[in-house]
Amino acid sequence: MRKYSVGEVRTEMKYCTTCGKEIMDEAVICPHCGCATGKSAIDTRNEEVTEYANKAWTYALIGFFLAPFAIPGLIYASKSKSKNGDVFTKKAKDAYIASIVWLILWSLGLLLWL
Ligand SMILES: [Zn+2]
Repeated sequence: MRKYSVGEVRTEMKYCTTCGKEIMDEAVICPHCGCATGKSAIDTRNEEVTEYANKAWTYALIGFFLAPFAIPGLIYASKSKSKNGDVFTKKAKDAYIASIVWLILWSLGLLLWL
């Protein structure tokens, strides 16, 4: 079940494992019964980072066929970097490198073709 609030901030709902009431997916403590939901804030952040890393990889792969699409890969890779402090997740780092390498190869190929 998904809800969209004002400002396009995505919130997903889930149910408390203790009292069964509907709570925010990001909630660490249930607002109804006060029990821990078993999900830490770090887990939530890591999920967001993984989401960006996955998008980075998707665009990096598309970039192997159409180089300009490697650019969104770079954008998503850098977003996952900023969301995780200054540390690249390995996946985002690989996607970032793959995008850059392909852009360079594509540019060289274009120069040789011209
Ligand atoms: Zn509860």
